[in-house]
Amino acid sequence: MEFDTIAAISTPMGEGAIAIVRLSGDQAFDIGDKVFKGMKGSSMKEFASHTIHYGHIIDPDTGQVVEEVMVSVMKGPKTFTREDIIEINCHGGLVSVNKVLQLVLKNGARLAEPGEFTKRAFLNGRIDLSQAEAVMDLIRAKTDRAMNVALNQMEGRLSNLIRKLRQEILETLAHVEVNIDYPEYDDVEEMTHHVLLEKSRRVRDEIDKLIRTSEQGKILREGLSTVIIGRPNVGKSSLLNSLVHENKAIVTDIPGTTRDVIEEYVNVRGVPLRLVDTAGIRETEDIVERIGVERSRQVLKEADLILLVLNYADELTFEDEQLFEAVKGMDVIVIVNKTDLPQKIDIDKVRKLSENHQLVTTALLEEQGIDELEEAISSLFFAGSIEGGDMTYVSNSRHIALLNQASLAINEAIDGVEMGTPIDIAQIDLTRTWELLGEIIGDSVHESLIDQLFSQFCLGK
Ligand code: GDP
Repeated sequence: MEFDTIAAISTPMGEGAIAIVRLSGDQAFDIGDKVFKGMKGSSMKEFASHTIHYGHIIDPDTGQVVEEVMVSVMKGPKTFTREDIIEINCHGGLVSVNKVLQLVLKNGARLAEPGEFTKRAFLNGRIDLSQAEAVMDLIRAKTDRAMNVALNQMEGRLSNLIRKLRQEILETLAHVEVNIDYPEYDDVEEMTHHVLLEKSRRVRDEIDKLIRTSEQGKILREGLSTVIIGRPNVGKSSLLNSLVHENKAIVTDIPGTTRDVIEEYVNVRGVPLRLVDTAGIRETEDIVERIGVERSRQVLKEADLILLVLNYADELTFEDEQLFEAVKGMDVIVIVNKTDLPQKIDIDKVRKLSENHQLVTTALLEEQGIDELEEAISSLFFAGSIEGGDMTYVSNSRHIALLNQASLAINEAIDGVEMGTPIDIAQIDLTRTWELLGEIIGDSVHESLIDQLFSQFCLGK
């Protein structure tokens, strides 16, 4: 495919030692030649591919030197987009890198839309859609583990698996077709049913296995939604502050998600915690009153992890017991805080109320017990559930939704055959399964979806 030449600043906005202006397209080298003066006089087309060159960016209109640069020259198709690419490494701040960008735009490049480089990689057939989405995940990865999941996906593990399943469905469909066309044997119908059921069940099991990884995958991608609850003054804000200060707070900026609750991200031993409603904790004193309101109930219901804080230096109250009641059956870590003060709490009763929840004691004011708490969080999350680093996780909600639909469709095929409905109905369901799986890797997706997906990328990627 032939496209115009696009350009963007590919490094984050802000002060940095280096900033990169990237160009991609068949005019990239011509535009580069217009603005770049290196040691060699020759054109970029003559440079060896994948080499880097020292020189200056010069405004061809004024002859003025704009920036001292290193330019990487990469010839398509062995590039990210499969097009000719140049990357201008500028070493100045925001102003000079912007000047370089303006200059290449003036000389024939067009400003890239967000994600357009990756979109070209997809449109030029270098990567499939799930791999393109993995690039986006990688940019946003909040922990090392999340990054591994994205990397695996980018390497095409999910795509390969999906392709294998689609192939199996195709073979099954072909098999059925042949049997319908050549009904030479008396038992052909029975045989067809048998093959269809066996293959469909196998594909269904694989799909369901993938769906089961999605919970972990989603948490790795989006963070473990965590709510801190407890009576006023037990130390909720202190806990929040310790978690945020001890751990690298993660900045997130996900376009298109407006939430009415304020969130903060922290990385606790590889587990990304999304601390929900932190503003509420910081500003509202009466948590019990807030539990009463519907929204807080909703927040609790959607939480993956509850941190229930109690006061060691105070007796258990009816409200404390109500809180235990409200979080029954959820993943809860009970934190008994203020152990530096004289004990008043009935710890045996706390143990009884806690049932099988983990129990941690802290003196947050003295920064004690935070290690134990972090240990409890990571053991809760990783307990037997994350299997080795080379698992294929499904973490993207678009993929999860498609897998769920595919599972439904193939189950209908299976049910139909089991109940003796005509075979061509099962064929329809199987074909539908095949199509749904295809949407994951982008084999049968709508153009508008592609536009929307890529527009979520950051600029310059
Ligand atoms: P919240 O109302 O649940 O958010 O509680 P805060 O975090 O605001 O804490 C209430 C008060 O208890 C503050 O004055 C804290 O400094 C204090 N506090 C928090 N943790 C501890 C602790 O471990 N020991 C002692 N002695 N005081 C603490």
